[in-house]
Amino acid sequence: MQLLFGRFAMSLEPDTKSILSWLAKQQDQMVTQLADWAAINTGTANLAGLRQLAELVEAEFTSITDHIDYLAVDPQTEVSSRGEVTERLLAGVLVGRRREKATRQAVLSIHMDTVYPADSPFQTLKLAGNVLHGPGVADAKGGLVVMLYALRALERYVEATGNRQLGWTILLNSDEEIGSLGSRNIFAQYGSDANFGLLFEPCLPSGHLIGQRKGSGNFEIVVRGQAAHAGREFYKGRNAVVAAANVARQLHELNGRWPDTTVNVAKIDGGGPNNVVPDVAVVRFNIRYPSQQHEAELSHDLERIVQDVPEGMVMSLHGGFFAPPKPLNEPYQQLLETVQKCGETIGLDLAWESTGGVCDGNRLAALGVPNVDTMGVQGGNIHSPQEYMLIDSLVPRAQLAFLTLISQVP
Ligand SMILES: [Zn+2]
Repeated sequence: MQLLFGRFAMSLEPDTKSILSWLAKQQDQMVTQLADWAAINTGTANLAGLRQLAELVEAEFTSITDHIDYLAVDPQTEVSSRGEVTERLLAGVLVGRRREKATRQAVLSIHMDTVYPADSPFQTLKLAGNVLHGPGVADAKGGLVVMLYALRALERYVEATGNRQLGWTILLNSDEEIGSLGSRNIFAQYGSDANFGLLFEPCLPSGHLIGQRKGSGNFEIVVRGQAAHAGREFYKGRNAVVAAANVARQLHELNGRWPDTTVNVAKIDGGGPNNVVPDVAVVRFNIRYPSQQHEAELSHDLERIVQDVPEGMVMSLHGGFFAPPKPLNEPYQQLLETVQKCGETIGLDLAWESTGGVCDGNRLAALGVPNVDTMGVQGGNIHSPQEYMLIDSLVPRAQLAFLTLISQVP
């Protein structure tokens, strides 16, 4: 939905103008920075790669933060194909702060992980004119570079004007691509006091922002039956795969119960040799929903499905709703309009669209922090080997974030 208001441009102070022109000269450095960071594989499971990137990123932010720390996070719990709950270690979060006693506080965030594992064939960068192809160049290392330069610009502004009333916190996590299962507590701990937030996920290929986002949940239902020899004692068996198929059908039937709520049965694990009645199956599924009020009703439905167990079998529900919906409420809309107005002053025509995709902006919104989450670079084909970003979006997006930040200085 496009919401355009009065096209009056902000009148820019001389300090602001000179910092915008300083930013305009940073494109080459920004590209070099991006190329260095994108060359390191940081698939969510690549803990060594993520640690290496975090050290390089920390070095760049040290001079503009009062302190920056690398915090460990809780491991992620996973359900194996045999229905066992296991733990997987996750890389940590860089938390940096500047002027934490200032009257107004911003939280800025983006993830360092990508969807490309260490053994992915998609590892190298390719430059073709204005287009840079490579893993994570748009989602979201380009955004990380934009954030760094916007904050460098803000600190120049603070030096020039002496106005120290805006403080900020950066949260750079390593597990966003799997739903920030480990870092969510750090968002609650360091993000919830902020007055507003900016996240640097890529904007849409058109340059537009994302407004409303659905919520999301990932679940597993483990079905346990009884193994038996298919020839000798078939009737002693309790077939977990058949029960799992029935669960899958019931889950699929939840589609259409509410408008815009979807249940995607993604995978069923289970079974083995043809002569064995299978004793374990795991149904894996994702739910997307537009409104918080659906969460309780959906939970109730899942409980009902799990309790409807065939005789001699056991079912258990794992997982949960990991990202609450991000509705377009009043403070959020105001912040989007502010970003839009800041865009107008540098010639960006910004509108916003809604999506079913989720990000850490959902989490911050649920903590009561209005935030615009697509302040990153212009690019596309994210989560695919065709991922690209547009080099000439680096400077304008850093200028946009800088102007938005100073528009919030008391
Ligand atoms: Zn992302």
